[in-house]
Amino acid sequence: ENWPEIEGNICFQNVSFTYKEGEKVLENFSLEVKAGENIALVGETGSGKSTIVNLLCRFYEPTEGQILIDGTDYRERSQLWLQSNLGYVLQTPHLFSGTIRENIQYGRLDATEEEIVQAAKLVNAHEFIIRMENSYNTQVGEGGNRLSTGEKQLISFARAILANPKIFVLDEATSSIDTETEQMIQQAIEKVLRGRTSFIIAHRLSTIRSAHRILVIREGKILESGTHGQL
Ligand code: ATP
Ligand code: MG
Repeated sequence: ENWPEIEGNICFQNVSFTYKEGEKVLENFSLEVKAGENIALVGETGSGKSTIVNLLCRFYEPTEGQILIDGTDYRERSQLWLQSNLGYVLQTPHLFSGTIRENIQYGRLDATEEEIVQAAKLVNAHEFIIRMENSYNTQVGEGGNRLSTGEKQLISFARAILANPKIFVLDEATSSIDTETEQMIQQAIEKVLRGRTSFIIAHRLSTIRSAHRILVIREGKILESGTHGQL
């Protein structure tokens, strides 16, 4: 199915959200992001960063308020529409059992070998892939359990970029991610964000120095915002 190209303007309008009744994780959260703007979210553990991006990915929907994409509540669109316009790398990345190639290609069965390798190169995943026993044909195991969390994030990253989405979300893994992989992700981020609306959650300010706006999140609210230089 072909959708008209979206611009990628995003608006959280008075969004409240609860996982468990009576415990609001977000309350009246509002945020306007222009097409092409690169947003970074930082804040303590449990402050609500992943919740914000998980709502944007529509793994959950607002309890109150709405999320608009190009001015329309995303609930008026299909899940498939969102999938074709938004790419994500989750904090706990999920791969399916199969080869690295199949995991990158996921959802884009028309992709050529060249495009797959190009996506992997763009996100700096190619290097570690060709070092593996069977390169792109390596089996990742159940849920990707033969790979480290950082490696799974890089594969998810390649998958997301292969689909060339207008909106991009990256929720960096908190633990068990080595410095080398963190650097790979950092360098890749700068290459792929141009022209996309993006939300990046990172643990080091250096990772997000190129963001147009950094939001410091505390208890589900924006505590402060500014550029890397301002904060
Ligand atoms: P971290 O930096 O550790 O990833 P975070 O800023 O991403 O933290 P969230 O994961 O958004 O924080 O969590 C915000 C709050 O919501 C926390 O109190 C957390 O315990 C709670 N929470 C998150 N996910 C769930 C869930 N699936 N069910 C119930 N509560 C949840
Ligand atoms: Mg999180």
